[in-house]
Amino acid sequence: MFPNEFRCSSCQTTFRAPFREAYYYLGSVAMGQQVEDSQLLEIPLRPAWCKDCACLCAAEDILPLRDFENAYGAARAGKEIDYPLHSAFMDSEQVVSEVGHYLRWRMARRHAPRVLCCGGTNFQYLDVAQPLIKHAECDFGFIEGETLHIGPYCGPGPGVLSAANIRLYDSEGGLLGQLTWRRKETNGWDTEKLSYLTPTED
Ligand SMILES: [Zn+2]
Ligand SMILES: [Zn+2]
Repeated sequence: MFPNEFRCSSCQTTFRAPFREAYYYLGSVAMGQQVEDSQLLEIPLRPAWCKDCACLCAAEDILPLRDFENAYGAARAGKEIDYPLHSAFMDSEQVVSEVGHYLRWRMARRHAPRVLCCGGTNFQYLDVAQPLIKHAECDFGFIEGETLHIGPYCGPGPGVLSAANIRLYDSEGGLLGQLTWRRKETNGWDTEKLSYLTPTED
């Protein structure tokens, strides 16, 4: 669960993550060219506070390999899973195939989870029972999550009427670019190159 908004418990200042959805790109074309849906894997995300950027942002949520193996076993047995994807309402063959992609990705992944604003690791997850981040400008405030209830969206989907600008990362969490326009006829997306403002050393 990724709250829409976080709020300081004392001064009521609100914080929003710049995005709550991002993908790994597992293919090899350069950004600027079209990518296919089959090469995208949604990144499991948790809200976090980046201590280097002093901002709220999504961070990768990467559980141990064993959790991926268990999820794969459960998916093959037709059981519902919640990580690395929510399988409710999905076709069971598709779940097995996607969890297989996640498992292969997890086996190869080396870098510790990153916060996706700058790619750093100096961050704190915010979806925990006790709020841990003090609002820096405030004597008593802590930053807490709040979920707003927004009705279901029934438009034509992202990337049709305006560029979707959904970020793409490589399998180690490095920023590659973003998905811009949907290309339905090829089950793909146009892309644009992006990179972290300050390169982080590995
Ligand atoms: Zn405050
Ligand atoms: Zn950052």
